Amino acid sequence: MSGRGRGRGAYFRAKYGGGGRGRGGGPAGDAYGQGPPMIDDSIPQAGGTRDWKQLTNDLKSIDGQQYGAYKRLYGKYEHTGPSFTLSVDHVQGDAFASPSRVRAIMPWQQTGLPKEFLQSDIRRIALCDYVTRVCASVIRSKHMDQGPNAGGGGGWSGPKGGAFNINAPGQEVLPRTSAMISSSGETIELRFTTSLPAAGRTVLGQQAWQILAVNVVELVLQSLLYGNLDQIKLGQHVISVENQSALRAQLAPANLIAFVANGAILPRASGASAAPMDPKKAIRFQSPKELEVSFPLPDGSSVSGMGVARGITLLTGGGFHGKSTLLEAMQLGIYNHIPGDGRELIVTDPTAVKIRAEDGRAVSSVDISPFIRNLPGGRDTKKFSTDDASGSTSMATNIQEALEVGCKSLLIDEDSSATNLLVRDVRMQTLIRNEPIQPLVAKARSLFTQHGVSTVIVIGGLGDWLSVADQVIAMEGYIPRAITADAKAIVQQYPSMVTEDKTYGSVPVRNIQVNLAGTRSPFAMRKGFISMKPQARNPVDDPSEAEAGIDLNGIDQLVEVGQSRTIAVLLEQVAGKTAANASPLANLLETMSNRLGVENCLPTNLAHGDLVGARPLEFAAALSRMRGVSVNM
Ligand code: ADP
Ligand code: MG
Repeated sequence: MSGRGRGRGAYFRAKYGGGGRGRGGGPAGDAYGQGPPMIDDSIPQAGGTRDWKQLTNDLKSIDGQQYGAYKRLYGKYEHTGPSFTLSVDHVQGDAFASPSRVRAIMPWQQTGLPKEFLQSDIRRIALCDYVTRVCASVIRSKHMDQGPNAGGGGGWSGPKGGAFNINAPGQEVLPRTSAMISSSGETIELRFTTSLPAAGRTVLGQQAWQILAVNVVELVLQSLLYGNLDQIKLGQHVISVENQSALRAQLAPANLIAFVANGAILPRASGASAAPMDPKKAIRFQSPKELEVSFPLPDGSSVSGMGVARGITLLTGGGFHGKSTLLEAMQLGIYNHIPGDGRELIVTDPTAVKIRAEDGRAVSSVDISPFIRNLPGGRDTKKFSTDDASGSTSMATNIQEALEVGCKSLLIDEDSSATNLLVRDVRMQTLIRNEPIQPLVAKARSLFTQHGVSTVIVIGGLGDWLSVADQVIAMEGYIPRAITADAKAIVQQYPSMVTEDKTYGSVPVRNIQVNLAGTRSPFAMRKGFISMKPQARNPVDDPSEAEAGIDLNGIDQLVEVGQSRTIAVLLEQVAGKTAANASPLANLLETMSNRLGVENCLPTNLAHGDLVGARPLEFAAALSRMRGVSVNM
């Protein structure tokens, strides 16, 4: 990237020493679909501790026995040279049940990793994220996953199981339970899932031995021993993440809500891929001179780029000139990215929320009166509830719910908005007198002055927004230009008739109660949906019940299914906490603060290896979309 100071490799060598070998993996792309359900929240302590030879003996002794004999593996096996513990935490009941879970736990001392990596949560997160990527890459390159999804496995009568995985990350560096450091810093562990292999209903001991006694050892050697890791690459990963985090922390003091570095690559390889566009094809970001700012980074370098100030910012320009791409990069600037992603030095206010229209979503008792009043039939918009919101009511709800949980920056794209919530021109104002909607264009100013909430909005065709903007940025062939002065001149020439509302109105405060009685444990098989099947009936008989759950597809800032899994696990905890009494949403988020967040380590007593950190904002967004979540104010 241009705009940088000295190279990161040099810093790394000075800081951590060592040369590094050419081993180690790149980012893993293949997401691993994990089976349901995930209920428990702590690791069962079953079985005893045995020495490593016993693992081979145990597998020999159960070979050819009924599948249930695998249960004998529960407990721990001690490997020596290097020493680590294989902990068998969950053994599936049959070959088709959700996979078994094992951990490899190594004393930090053994790893040879520099203890500087333990210094902060952000370093621990970056290190664990890196070793997860190395594992996923070795599993792929050595074809260790022999499950049906990987092309192994067999039909009804053939071999079953054989899947072996670690939860593979995408482009973001996030807290993950796939690799974790104990809070004391004494151990680091890897968490795998495996479908223990079977022929028909009998144990395939030899294949299980390959997984547990060979593959796991190989992965421990390759990804936990500093001497075997690509030390340069690891150092760059950690430093890059630390830089990003520190850069984000400098936004607020500089009165900015976003920063986009010169040289950044914003577009993605395709609509279906989060990988960067080929750098030979992409036009790198270059800030307009008027908006350029520079920041120092912790590694001693500095970075220059475009600062987006608090207030109301319009991103405009012709169609297909890169407006939405810029906004999308900004909405993911709440996360740190892997080196090479192209968006490493694009950072955004950590409370920023992408707002879109989401018709069809469920709404429970949200005050949307700042935007909508006097609905037909005298419907209350101070406690608006519906099973099927419209474009405008869903968008008003999304804004109000974001404010409820502390959002200070709204990110909006005309492409995915309800036009009637954004603006109403003078002709419509004259024609339709009993319009219940007060559009955002009339509210954005008071939202900022009264609640300190900024708006960044992509506008192609709605010129009324020019009159309320503090700054206007035009995208022209993917290069931004500052055109605030031109825009002001046009407003003089063609005055618009936006009647600004001097008072924004209230922000909702809700008490929430989640009742999961009669429902099976919520779980997420995919990013966009948390399934909550009823307990009693067989969902296979009734497709509508099979789809009972929470639709997360409107939450654009969720990036991994692992985040949805975390939300599902926490939902169950909220149900527990609110069983007797409804509780204010803010308090609920507070009590779960050590299980939420994207820059703090997750607690090691979360049992599963496929959970990924999510912001309280996304958790609240999911909670709010739950049908029948009961609310009283
Ligand atoms: P708009 O919202 O202005 O209509 P988009 O952001 O959707 O435009 O971008 C249009 C197309 O241009 C997309 O296919 C996108 O991948 C591509 N694109 C965006 N930014 C760049 C860039 N910096 N370099 C090359 N292609 C880009
Ligand atoms: Mg667009």
